[in-house]
Amino acid sequence: MRGIVWHGPEQMSVEEVESPEVGPGQVVVRPEATGICGSEIEGYLGKMGNRTPPLVMGHEFAGTVTEVGEGADEGLLGLTVAVNPLSSDGTCYLCRAGLTNLCPNRKLVGIHSPGGFAEYALAPAANVYPLPEGVDARTGALAEPLANGVHAARLGTAGGHPVEHAVVIGAGTIGLMCLQAAVLDGIPTVHAVEPHEGRREQALALGATGAHASAEEAGLAVEGARDGLGADLVIDAVGAEVTRRAAIDLLRPGGRAVFIGLHDDGSTLGFHGVVRGQIDLQGSYAYTAEDFEQALSWLVEGKAGIGELPPVLALEEGPGAFADLVRGPSAQIKVFLAGSGS
Ligand SMILES: [Zn+2]
Repeated sequence: MRGIVWHGPEQMSVEEVESPEVGPGQVVVRPEATGICGSEIEGYLGKMGNRTPPLVMGHEFAGTVTEVGEGADEGLLGLTVAVNPLSSDGTCYLCRAGLTNLCPNRKLVGIHSPGGFAEYALAPAANVYPLPEGVDARTGALAEPLANGVHAARLGTAGGHPVEHAVVIGAGTIGLMCLQAAVLDGIPTVHAVEPHEGRREQALALGATGAHASAEEAGLAVEGARDGLGADLVIDAVGAEVTRRAAIDLLRPGGRAVFIGLHDDGSTLGFHGVVRGQIDLQGSYAYTAEDFEQALSWLVEGKAGIGELPPVLALEEGPGAFADLVRGPSAQIKVFLAGSGS
């Protein structure tokens, strides 16, 4: 079969790769839409230590089940399914505590095993969710990025932290997913910060209260609405030093910053403000099965999405698409690839 193989920094080609052999508890999926994730752009550049070449990436995908392994539900054959690429051992201390996303033995399809940028991919049968009739595979492929947003928004209000005013920094895919999850979670006011005008428009179309070119502008909007008080929650979906600082600056005393963006590793932050403002710094990584299921049901119900879905490009266009995405943000927030396209 054909697959897009990443060979190292900015080296990627479409070539013949070994077809997957289904094992017990597994299914083979023929991806009909596989989204390119921002982390894969970083991976393509060689900036993500968890990806080792040669690798077929692709962890945001949905497609048709073509084979079912021993012990897996044969009723899945022929169904279009969304794939939750993340699985954990289910038995360790963290899994038993409900923190399955942090399991030290977690495995991701597209990182630890070949992913969705190929004609076929293996997935654990327990991780596939049949899509209702008429739901597009591209919609199913958005469940994974939205699950990240669901998780971040959930952490934003966890422990009874009251949130009336939230700000999401960044309106790329993950930012827009965090924004929608925050809105759907019932947070009344959710502002977006995004320098790219087309993406600001998209944030507004997807439910943002306001969309601002700078954090300062968003800060003025929030403070104006609440007599000078800052935001209760800021989600940083970028992860640059400047956005991490902005996240803390935008908060009211006792506010919470959730960090999901991974752009920079090191960041210098002013900790006097963190201490005196009793600021809550919260990291957010991946998602649990519950988060994935919540994301998928919001997508299937049409409550979340990315607006008009772009066409699915052929696998052959993948290497070029990755090279284009490296050049920076565009209004088109998601690129889908699969087979010979559609
Ligand atoms: Zn575990």
